[in-house]
Amino acid sequence: MKIRLSSPIVTDSVVDGRGLRTVIWCQGCSHDCAGCHNPDTHDFAGGYEQDIDELVQEILAVQMQSGVTFSGGDPMIQAASCAAIASQLKEHGTNIWCYTGFTFEELLDRPDCRQLLQYIDVLVDGKFELSLKSYELLFKGSANQRIIDVSESLKQNRVVLYQFDCV
Ligand code: SF4
Repeated sequence: MKIRLSSPIVTDSVVDGRGLRTVIWCQGCSHDCAGCHNPDTHDFAGGYEQDIDELVQEILAVQMQSGVTFSGGDPMIQAASCAAIASQLKEHGTNIWCYTGFTFEELLDRPDCRQLLQYIDVLVDGKFELSLKSYELLFKGSANQRIIDVSESLKQNRVVLYQFDCV
């Protein structure tokens, strides 16, 4: 199985979730947010393909990371491939964050995305809204986006925001 990436993994990121994180840059996005910081990742045929098992081995070889973050592009465009990666990482106890332009509620209607959500610890959801952009925000670009505790949200069948002070 393969995934389409826009670029190689980045390690030691401190802006894509809590701690030092390895970031997977997924290619393909349909949201077309005004002011998008990463327009080169939109083309579904852009980037390049990588074997999923090779990518997982590459990620697991990186030392001293707090977790892995799916970014892009929109990882939910390739939800089945991301789920295959995330399921392997979870076997190693990896903490996983994911960014998406879809809302949590929209993802619940798509079986492939629901599958991926099973492996995600924290989801940052919603399109980037230029009018709500702020540099004061932690781990998100605009105020409409939510940082969601996924397992609690699935359990309670409603959005439960991630609590930074209790982990
Ligand atoms: S969801 Fe992200 S990558 Fe896609 S257009 Fe919006 S800001 Fe850009």
